[in-house]
Amino acid sequence: MLQGSYNSLLVLFSLLVAVLAAYTSLEMAGRIVTAQGRAARLWLAGGAFAMGLGVWSMHFIGMLAFSLPIRLGYDPVITLLSLSIAVASSAFALWLVCQNDLPARRLTGGAVLMGLGVAGMHYTGMAAMQMEPGIVYDMPRFVLSIAIAMAASGVALKTAFSLRHNSRRTRPLRAGGAIVMGLGVAGMHYTGMWAASFPDGSLCIAATDGVNSAWVAVVIIVVTLAVTAVALTISVFEDLRLETENATLTRSLAQANQELGYLALHDALTKLPNRVLLEARLAQALASVDSEGGRFAVMFMDLDGFKVVNDAYGHHVGDRLLVQVAQRLASVVRAQDTLARVGGDEFVLLVPGGDVAGVTAAADRVLSAISASFDVEGHDLRISTSIGIAMCPTDGATVHDALTHADAAMYHAKSLGRNAFCFFDTSMNENLQGQLQLTQDLRAAIERRQLVLHYQPQFAAPDGPITGVEALVRWAHPTRGLIGPDEFIPLAEKTGLIVPIGEWVLDEACRQIREWLDTDAREWSIAVNLSPVQFSHPQLTALVRETLARHRVAPRYLTIEVTESAAMRNVDESLRILQSLHEMGVRISIDDFGTGYSSLMYLKRLPASELKIDRGFVRELAHDAEDAAIVSSVVALGHTLGIDIVAEGVETATQKEFLTRLGCNSLQGFLLGRPVPASDLDTSARPYPQASLS
Ligand code: C2E
Ligand code: CA
Ligand code: CA
Repeated sequence: MLQGSYNSLLVLFSLLVAVLAAYTSLEMAGRIVTAQGRAARLWLAGGAFAMGLGVWSMHFIGMLAFSLPIRLGYDPVITLLSLSIAVASSAFALWLVCQNDLPARRLTGGAVLMGLGVAGMHYTGMAAMQMEPGIVYDMPRFVLSIAIAMAASGVALKTAFSLRHNSRRTRPLRAGGAIVMGLGVAGMHYTGMWAASFPDGSLCIAATDGVNSAWVAVVIIVVTLAVTAVALTISVFEDLRLETENATLTRSLAQANQELGYLALHDALTKLPNRVLLEARLAQALASVDSEGGRFAVMFMDLDGFKVVNDAYGHHVGDRLLVQVAQRLASVVRAQDTLARVGGDEFVLLVPGGDVAGVTAAADRVLSAISASFDVEGHDLRISTSIGIAMCPTDGATVHDALTHADAAMYHAKSLGRNAFCFFDTSMNENLQGQLQLTQDLRAAIERRQLVLHYQPQFAAPDGPITGVEALVRWAHPTRGLIGPDEFIPLAEKTGLIVPIGEWVLDEACRQIREWLDTDAREWSIAVNLSPVQFSHPQLTALVRETLARHRVAPRYLTIEVTESAAMRNVDESLRILQSLHEMGVRISIDDFGTGYSSLMYLKRLPASELKIDRGFVRELAHDAEDAAIVSSVVALGHTLGIDIVAEGVETATQKEFLTRLGCNSLQGFLLGRPVPASDLDTSARPYPQASLS
């Protein structure tokens, strides 16, 4: 037998390469699990190549470390075949450990297959020497080497599987695992070599090609180191990239959270603190005066005339106006005050320090800041604000009481004629209680049949006959007597009660039309007022149609009055509703014309049959040349559009003559007839009944 010998340096290298290959495979397994889709497949392919190449170079360097007294060489084709066996088993191993689970049976099968692969690579590589005569293998050692290959594979698979998820702890563990695996693979190799013996006189056929084995060793070592180094470097960079990505993600998440936190406590439009933050500050302030004494003021501000601007110019202008209001308010408050927006056009100011003079000065500053005109997108807008002030803790020791009482004081300021401030007083609380009581009573009023309709006649100008009547609702309150609509319609609108009330008015009016037709053959039309709240109700058209049908009333007997600002609120939607009412045959009348801001040209788009000039204009007519000019141009425009003009609030004979001369078609007012119950119309409805008295 030929006596083999080993180059110990190369043996050492082969061990190192084995460990490196093992480490690479563990690292790759971690990558594949982290990546997804195409990236995972690329990592599997690249990883299998790096790992296969590593395992194979370990083997090949081991071969090069071995020498016999004869020249040795390796057939390149068979050598490449052994390399591909190594890559294929590596691919299989990597694929196996990246599955979701690795039950014992699969692990065993995998270890057997992979062990066979490694052994296959080794013995194919041996065959590349093409010894003549063939290598003689010692059977037990041969079997042992395969067993070692399988055992090493089993350990490798198990280690790779349990360390496949990347974390801080896995790298050192992988290094340890790699040493064990590397020793296993090398052990298999050297056991295999130990099993082999070369008969005396053997020839290495492959050696005839004359490849210098030292060079081959260097090239293989360099290539292997390069490939594994590249794989590991990419892997580490990938980790860094993931880490920065994670850090960026965490940072933007934190930022988003911060913004959400800000949004939760601030109003998106004006950027002022919102109700939530205000209540928190208010609670804080209350707690502090509770423990340390002292007082502070809660100022509740509600803009006067904001709704009109919003209705007339649209939400966009309304929003811009609110932003400007917020800026002006912010410019007059002090740093220690809290200014918040708590509702559409409602703001609250917390003023620490309880001296009435200081609070009064603050309120004055706010009033004058808001009453100066605003320039919003070229519109010159004038509004004002009403302020209610609660001095805490006297006027409110809880958040709820403080705000409710400031609110009550604000309503009082409004009732004083707006653009004013008012300190809370316990009597206002009674007002508040009164309002609550009123709401409850109003709710019951419909069922208790306490609502009544009065009718005010409209006359063909100048002296009749009666062309129709306007229905005006009243509330026959059991204890307070007859209450006018101005006192309960706003409340009804706020509470939504206007919807059932409006239904009742419509029904009652139609019933009355029927009655007049039946008993007196009187063909009077009735005008019914519609609140903006009802006007935005989707079932309005259906309600009108059903009510008319129920009383068998032709639509031409009914006129619907909507105010100019209600019709302009949501022009397209309004047009749709008005159009369908118009098509039904119901007359449309634009009420209070001239008080809104709408362009006269809008009129062209409205399917209106009638236009009621607001009594404010009528009142000023005689003194104000400008008003007269406006009325006359409205009349002229109305006539070109085929719209009838009604003047309301006619109180004097002068007004009557003037309006007739301007060309108004109909007149309505105390001069000609007050609103009265239907039964009284007979006597008051003669042609110019009261005009003859005056
Ligand atoms: P409006 O639609 O402008 O109704 C005309 C108001 O002017 C009536 O007041 C009427 O009594 C009053 N008036 C009539 N002639 C004269 C006059 O020569 N001089 C003066 N100074 N006033 C005159 P009323 O009945 O108090 O109604 C007030 C408002 O309440 C109405 O204004 C209308 O907007 C609303 N309203 C009345 N009834 C209803 C209803 O059934 N539904 C709805 N939604 N609103 C109603
Ligand atoms: Ca009206
Ligand atoms: Ca009116």
